[in-house]
Amino acid sequence: MLLHHRLLPRLLISSSTPVNTSLLLHRTSDCPSPTRRILSPRSSALSHVAAPQTIDHSDADELLGEVQVQLPLDRLFVPPGASVSAGDTEAVTARVLKGSNIVLGPYARGDANVIAADFVKSSVRPDDCPRDGLPEFALVGRSNVGKSSLLNSLVRRKRLALTSKKPGKTQCINHFKVNDSWYLVDLPGYGYAAAPQEARTNWDEFTRNYFVSRKNLVSVFLLIDASIPAKKIDLDYASWLGQNKVPMTLVFTKCDKRKKKKNGGKRPEENVENFQSLIREYFEAAPPWIMTSSVTNQGRDEILLHMSQLRNYWLKH
Ligand code: GDP
Repeated sequence: MLLHHRLLPRLLISSSTPVNTSLLLHRTSDCPSPTRRILSPRSSALSHVAAPQTIDHSDADELLGEVQVQLPLDRLFVPPGASVSAGDTEAVTARVLKGSNIVLGPYARGDANVIAADFVKSSVRPDDCPRDGLPEFALVGRSNVGKSSLLNSLVRRKRLALTSKKPGKTQCINHFKVNDSWYLVDLPGYGYAAAPQEARTNWDEFTRNYFVSRKNLVSVFLLIDASIPAKKIDLDYASWLGQNKVPMTLVFTKCDKRKKKKNGGKRPEENVENFQSLIREYFEAAPPWIMTSSVTNQGRDEILLHMSQLRNYWLKH
């Protein structure tokens, strides 16, 4: 298990001043000086700063269908190669990807766009996966979370991910090669009630083996349905990844589904915040997260930029 080849979430943060992820700055406090602490040995190259655990999601901030989310700086994901120092809140705000906590760093390149995407192979064991060592991102989530829709949206193809839904392929690790240089990997959906218990356990085991043994896995993209309250199985999955130091990005899906408050439904951004507060204890630093919709393509370009910066850093190290 060569986890040091992987990219761990890192945070170089020095302020509790909130930034607004849709680029409007609401300055609500002064920036205190940074205090640093060293993390556990597996992420000893990383450091982060403790800051007040506050977040402000204002109900009144909905503008033209766009939601303004305020985040304190210690909740941002600062990618490798980038740093954030006290006093440059405005500059940081301009670099936060819309609808996310992800700061755009120097490794994001013009290679983010998908020019070509092709299905390569289905594997039933991690050992059968492609061996060319290209960087890869794995998509995983509960059945029906919108994984196929997101995959199709990322590659701008209507039916590419259908390959993963063909009989016999739903329990496989499906590799799609993008721009001949990196992979999107579709993992079996979990929590499918109709699957026999034995099959479910089997998928869990091989997916977990894949997570811990795959050296060229840059990050897992864990899909969470933002239109419903947090589910235990998703929380368990996220905390397992956190505890096993598997680099993870939370991708909140179906963010276009806005339930009416008067019907007791929570807004996507409320579900997003609740989910994060429930898993916070399992992470040394805030994992990257992003809100998406395959209906409106919200978050599509942002995910690709995030993948670009993770990938380019990984390739250099
Ligand atoms: P999978 O089982 O995770 O691959 O999920 P699918 O991509 O097949 O989607 C499951 C259902 O959710 C389908 O009815 C989709 O049309 C719907 N869906 C997927 N993504 C979105 C989204 O972003 N917004 C909305 N409103 N519906 C979605």
